[in-house]
Amino acid sequence: MIYYLGLGANLGDREKNLRAAIDRIKKISGVKLLKISSFYETAAWGVENQPDFINAAVKISTELEPLKILDAVQKIELELGRVRKEHWGARTIDIDILLVDALKINLPRLKIPHPYLYERDFVLVPLSEIFPELRFNLHGEKILRVCGSPNDFNLKIIACVDKNFGLGFKNQLLFKIPADLKNFRALTLNNTIIFGRKTLETFPQGKPLDSRRNIILSRTLEKTDGAEIVRSVDELFDTLDAAEKNFVVGGAQIFEELLPYVGEIFLTTVDAEKPADAFFPRLENFDLIDAKIFAGAPNFEIRKYRRR
Ligand code: ATP
Ligand code: CA
Ligand code: CA
Repeated sequence: MIYYLGLGANLGDREKNLRAAIDRIKKISGVKLLKISSFYETAAWGVENQPDFINAAVKISTELEPLKILDAVQKIELELGRVRKEHWGARTIDIDILLVDALKINLPRLKIPHPYLYERDFVLVPLSEIFPELRFNLHGEKILRVCGSPNDFNLKIIACVDKNFGLGFKNQLLFKIPADLKNFRALTLNNTIIFGRKTLETFPQGKPLDSRRNIILSRTLEKTDGAEIVRSVDELFDTLDAAEKNFVVGGAQIFEELLPYVGEIFLTTVDAEKPADAFFPRLENFDLIDAKIFAGAPNFEIRKYRRR
């Protein structure tokens, strides 16, 4: 089933609350996060005299039933410190289920489509960004600005795979092709690279790469010279600079975790098949926009994909 969820926050660090909520939605077991809208700042609706909101929408796929998803998102609201006082009042996070396939549900605890969906521009505008086929009318509510979305961080992936999307075997990369490594260096030099602990071990002498900002996403790694360590995706977005080019360079787990935020992928695809135990995640919602072919032994292509 495809679900669209609407998120809103108007207390605390609003963008951080939204990112933390999205991170937790992504981690609900059995849920796949497919798309995230930009973040929109909007004036409060219904009950005025409260701080402006940041709103966003996400698209997920899951086989979990609507009431299970409602339980899961209400749990996330509580974990993120939501206190229910007045209806439509200020809150650190609100997560509503907007649509579930073409389902109609009318239970006391759950109404689908969300009852006010078509009356609220602050929901429709982010939703339409990730659901362009949706038909609706806007009401002239003011959207103040677009801001702080994980999509704004301009994340890109660089990776090298074989024909079967294999990335590595026994913690080693499948390929070290000089022309491809040269391309990797040219793209990443003076920019930011983001990677996991195991990928650090594949670098020369197991050290961070020169002339780049190195950020390691790891829950366990101790202090490492020449690199910054972040413990979570949320912390990553706190330290990233949206004006920089930020390249995610491995490994498989980090690609999987950050793919929902990635806009572009440079995927070197080698015309060979090798034993592998780590694979590139499945690409959905990406279009192949460019391919440079390199002749050699073996042949390879540097493919460029962009999020649809
Ligand atoms: P609104 O529902 O108008 O956006 P709200 O989000 O401020 O207002 P809450 O206090 O978060 O309202 O939720 C009130 C109740 O609405 C929840 O306890 C929940 O059971 C119920 N509810 C009904 N339909 C939905 C839905 N589609 N998504 C989320 N909650 C829903
Ligand atoms: Ca709501
Ligand atoms: Ca709600």
